[in-house]
Amino acid sequence: MTGRPQIPRRLLSLEVSIAALGVLGTLFLGVSLAWNVNQIRDRTLEGALIQARVAYEKDIIFRRWNNQHGGIYVDATVTPPNPYLADMPERDVRTPSGKNLTLVNPAYMTRQIYELEAKVSGLHGHITSLEPMRPQNAPDPWERTALEAFELGVGEVHAVRPVAGQEYMRLMRPLITEGGCLACHHERGYVLGKPWGGISVSVPMRELRVIEWKGIRTVIIAHLALWLVGIAGLALGGRSLLASERGLRRAEEEGRTAAERLRESNRLKDLFIDIVRHDLLNPASVIRYYTSYLQECETDPTKKDCYLKIEGVNNRLMDLIRNASKYSRLEEMARVDCQRLDLGTMLLDALAVHEHRLKEAGMAVNYLPRGEYPITANPMLEDVFTNIVANAIKYAREGKKLEIDVLDEGGNWLVQVRDFGKGIPDKDKPQIFTRFTRLKKEGVEGSGLGLAIVKRLVDLHKGLIWVEDNPAGGSVFCVRLPKGGPQSADDQKL
Ligand code: ADP
Repeated sequence: MTGRPQIPRRLLSLEVSIAALGVLGTLFLGVSLAWNVNQIRDRTLEGALIQARVAYEKDIIFRRWNNQHGGIYVDATVTPPNPYLADMPERDVRTPSGKNLTLVNPAYMTRQIYELEAKVSGLHGHITSLEPMRPQNAPDPWERTALEAFELGVGEVHAVRPVAGQEYMRLMRPLITEGGCLACHHERGYVLGKPWGGISVSVPMRELRVIEWKGIRTVIIAHLALWLVGIAGLALGGRSLLASERGLRRAEEEGRTAAERLRESNRLKDLFIDIVRHDLLNPASVIRYYTSYLQECETDPTKKDCYLKIEGVNNRLMDLIRNASKYSRLEEMARVDCQRLDLGTMLLDALAVHEHRLKEAGMAVNYLPRGEYPITANPMLEDVFTNIVANAIKYAREGKKLEIDVLDEGGNWLVQVRDFGKGIPDKDKPQIFTRFTRLKKEGVEGSGLGLAIVKRLVDLHKGLIWVEDNPAGGSVFCVRLPKGGPQSADDQKL
């Protein structure tokens, strides 16, 4: 008996694997969320930095434009004269129509624009220097550090810093002395092309942070949804996996138990067959010996008849024991050892076994071997024909005739044993080869094992057996056998 394939034991139990998958998935989503949030934050800072740079560039262009025109004159009633330009000869002028104008230099103009900008957009600009003319232009600590860095050649400093409790992107670049600057600042030692201070621009982060939070919120919701779907899928899938694994383990356990039970019942069967074969056959032989002896010595016909009946029943008992043990032995066999034999001689021997009974039944046998019929087979094959002939004598003796033909089919021999009895109804034909099937006992001795043994023997030779109707009345038992033995049968279709 071959063992059932074992379900391989896993290194990790299914429960642990599912939990590990859940933890891994959660970790993966956590890392992905952190990465995405970081990306959004970086984009916010980049956006703020771009805004700050654009604001700075715009300031510089306005200043340059003013510088190129040597300052601009504006209405003195709107913009008060700049006290820091008091030394300028034409700081204040009067138009022919009597309108008072005052000169606005780049620094003055930028300051006014910054004041306006702070009110409108919240963006702060600041011109500063380490030595400011106006005290209001003095740098705060962050600007001072940046200005010191410019002296060392740094071109830009930026950082997110709080200013008056609000978060700002602060950017600062140096202010380089241009030709026009020297008109006002010549006495302060400015050198053309060298930094003399810086412009700091501060972009409020509040609105950018609002947009940033919307992006982060979307990413969090997407990850959370993904996590929930994943965990739910894992829980459901894991549950059904666990259930099917439990089912498999149960089936495996049941299979093992069934195999164990089968082994035990096989052991008991073997024990029973041994008992039948040895312990029952021996006493039955002793009964036969003494019954035959008593029958010979007996002169009283009534008693003689009793002994005869005992002998008959005992013979049936012995046949049954022999057949049962033979059948179980054949059932256990997977293959038979074969040798070269002559099928014709085998048939003659089978007939010889029953010669006496055939004569007694008044049955004529029509069989004439035409030469040899060589076959690779086990000598037990003779039992096939002994049984078929015995059945013909038992069930078809009224036909008074038995015909045997051996046909050459190329790779096979086809043996036909034809009787002229009552025949077998179509519905019963397939059953007669299964054990303990007896159609009508009609006082005929038998165990119902004969044709089951025959079929098993034919199967072991990879042959075929079936029964047909004899057109002249009766049955034809057909046995097809591969000439080369069971091994050759695999190469050809019978
Ligand atoms: P049994 O021990 O009863 O003879 P078999 O297995 O040899 O058992 O036969 C099974 C049944 O097939 C028999 O009981 C009989 O009914 C039927 N049978 C077998 N051979 C013939 C035959 N030549 N003619 C009619 N019936 C037969």
